[in-house]
Amino acid sequence: MPRPIQATIHPDALRANLERMRRAAPDAKVWAIVKANAYGHGIERVYEGLRGADGFALLDLAEAERVRALGWRGPILLLEGAFEARDLELCSRLNLWHAVHCEEQIDWLAAHKTHQPHRVFLKLNSGMNRLGFTPAAFRTAWVRLDALPQVDEISLMTHFSDSDAARGVAHQMRVFAEATKDLPGERTLSNSAAVLRHAQDANVRADWVRPGIAVYGSAPDFPEHAAAHWQLQPTMTLSSKLIGVQQLQAGDTVGYGSTFTADAPLRIGVVACGYADGYPRHCSTGTPILVEGVKTRLVGRVSMDMLTVDLAPVPNARIGSEVTLWGNGPKGTVQPIDEVARAGGTVAYELMCALAARVPVLVA
Ligand SMILES: *Cc1c(COP(=O)(O)O)cnc(C)c1O
Repeated sequence: MPRPIQATIHPDALRANLERMRRAAPDAKVWAIVKANAYGHGIERVYEGLRGADGFALLDLAEAERVRALGWRGPILLLEGAFEARDLELCSRLNLWHAVHCEEQIDWLAAHKTHQPHRVFLKLNSGMNRLGFTPAAFRTAWVRLDALPQVDEISLMTHFSDSDAARGVAHQMRVFAEATKDLPGERTLSNSAAVLRHAQDANVRADWVRPGIAVYGSAPDFPEHAAAHWQLQPTMTLSSKLIGVQQLQAGDTVGYGSTFTADAPLRIGVVACGYADGYPRHCSTGTPILVEGVKTRLVGRVSMDMLTVDLAPVPNARIGSEVTLWGNGPKGTVQPIDEVARAGGTVAYELMCALAARVPVLVA
């Protein structure tokens, strides 16, 4: 028998979360962001649930090829554009729309011998200071692109740094409005947090929204809000089983480094899941976890292939009992991935993306 660990992808939840994003930005078209192999879910596994999107956005050219291979004929956007000049050949061949964030990418386009003019998304650095033209250079870049026969349509994009938190989007909205004033073309600005928190403003919604993490059922502004608050459903479940049980006495310790000491007799369970499966090693005693759908806590350190849980709330638990690390548990229970991520000092994005290749994945 293989190890009992299992990941499950939920297409119905992907569909419902995508619909949720549409309700938050009703007049906008929606890019489903499927970069990083669909946030670790697998592009092929999410395709059915997300094909109701208006387009797919990602950044790896091989992933764009996989989306086309699935039969998708609609828009695909390369969020970081070409990485070198010859990437434009694939853009021409597969009809990929692509971001243009630097002068070099314009040079490559100008030298590109294409028969099919390209649609590009000119990216403004409105304050994130990662990719994009500065406000001062933006118009010159637009004029350069507009003069190229290789380009037939220019859209305008930027990305928010603080849409999930107190600083918000107003400062970047001001920069975007000023830099793009009187320029024609569709606009796209909003990631998940902007869609959920700021999309009452039509200028924030704009023509296209770009939700990623919310489509995958995580609250972008956790812990201020939980996924349930935003009516988002888990799209990935990580489950396993108990493969061992130990009866501890007061003073006994658990696992490497003896970081947990029982202060009274305690039954603990050993779960077939460790950091080599993608469960964060930084999660320590107290991290929430479901056994038979009952909320309990991790105790001691996470090791490579196993972790240990407090069985006090689940006296009937035994070898073979169902364990939910994150996602959907038995009988309608849920272990939010955001809570696990927080306990590990990270975000749900990282947990999803880090699901290890050795974990078998089922599409339910
Ligand atoms: C990843 C990404 C998004 C989606 O962000 P979420 O926080 O997952 O919604 C949107 N736009 C760009 C440019 C991105 O790189």
